[in-house]
Amino acid sequence: MNQQLKEKLHRTFIEYYGSGDRPVNVFHAPGRVNLIGEHIDYNGGYVLPAALEFGTTLLIGARDDDRISLSSAQFPERAEFAYGQLPGAKSDQWTDYPTGVMVTLQQAGYPLSRGYDLLFHGEIPNGSGLSSSASIEVVTAFALLTLEGHPVDRKQISLWAQKAENAYVGVNCGIMDQFAVANGKKDHAILLMCDTLEFELVPFQTGNYKLVIGNTNKRRGLVDSKYNERRSECETAVNELKAAFPELTLLGQLNRDQFAQHAGLIASETVRKRAKHVIEENERVLQSVQKLKENDLAAFGRLMRESHLSLRDLYEVSCFELDVMVEEALKIPGVVGSRMTGAGFGGCTVSLVREDQIERFVREVGEAYEKATGLEAAFYVCGVGNGAEQIE
Ligand code: ADP
Ligand code: MG
Repeated sequence: MNQQLKEKLHRTFIEYYGSGDRPVNVFHAPGRVNLIGEHIDYNGGYVLPAALEFGTTLLIGARDDDRISLSSAQFPERAEFAYGQLPGAKSDQWTDYPTGVMVTLQQAGYPLSRGYDLLFHGEIPNGSGLSSSASIEVVTAFALLTLEGHPVDRKQISLWAQKAENAYVGVNCGIMDQFAVANGKKDHAILLMCDTLEFELVPFQTGNYKLVIGNTNKRRGLVDSKYNERRSECETAVNELKAAFPELTLLGQLNRDQFAQHAGLIASETVRKRAKHVIEENERVLQSVQKLKENDLAAFGRLMRESHLSLRDLYEVSCFELDVMVEEALKIPGVVGSRMTGAGFGGCTVSLVREDQIERFVREVGEAYEKATGLEAAFYVCGVGNGAEQIE
């Protein structure tokens, strides 16, 4: 974070909470982008996310009394309550995310021992699939556990953050986002097995190629209902495939051959397409890791493109805006791969673009996108950053 912003945030903190005679600590958790392996996390397979260089910063200072006070540089609402009396129900405001984390930590046997003032500052566009929610959850858990002197176990933090989002906020998300935000490492992608949480940091050395994230700025209208529909379609596929694999609990447990042999057990053609996506996408993740290790970016780019087509045609979670952005991206020379990333129906694309073409990419894809959709895109040229950390 640059010095100017840091000073500004300290000033805002004092404006909100007074200076007091106390240290103010600073923590940061990134956003994340999923490089490949989409709609796989709840199917117990492999995903390949990476932490971004921008995220959520938290300024936090202990108080003399028992009050917890929450504010954000991005939202006007504030919340205050006693640490011993955390709100039992959500308020449908942004404060649900950090409050949910505190409730979850308390339930896990880590209640707070004193009051705190918290000021969040986010650089991640909200609701665009770059996981600003996981970022604010993880930075909260990481900071509170650190300041309370408890063990800071990143795997455990990601599980608690996910629980806060599932049980308190009421969003049925998988584990990938919180895990990537907590465990990311600069210049590494994270190969994560979502069923067991085993993971491997894979060097992500892209040389003179850079990740360019394109935000469609399309409101993700359908995403919740369609997300739940896809989850239940995958459950149906598992249930029907059990005739051949009695032990099967998640689609990620099957390989392409096993699926090809028994796909006929799935009655609905739609459900069969969903399952085919999951099984092939899961294999694409492992192939991607292999290609990245061989430094074969062209092959990795091909897998990104296949992933997009599968999300568009088999899983059917893309939309006109995402498809236009990907198609226009692939017209620019020096683009090895491009795909939608995140849950779909809007949100972002991720492309791997040769450095000397980035300016042209942003200009030409942006213009063509606006012409086709009437929407203005935003682009973020981004390196891979670290997971949650204490800055001050
Ligand atoms: P995504 O995780 O894709 O960005 P979500 O809808 O899951 O989208 O989460 C976005 C929500 O998270 C915001 O509407 C807000 O409630 C909360 N949030 C994220 N970042 C901040 C922030 N810096 N300050 C306050 N709330 C935030
Ligand atoms: Mg989210």
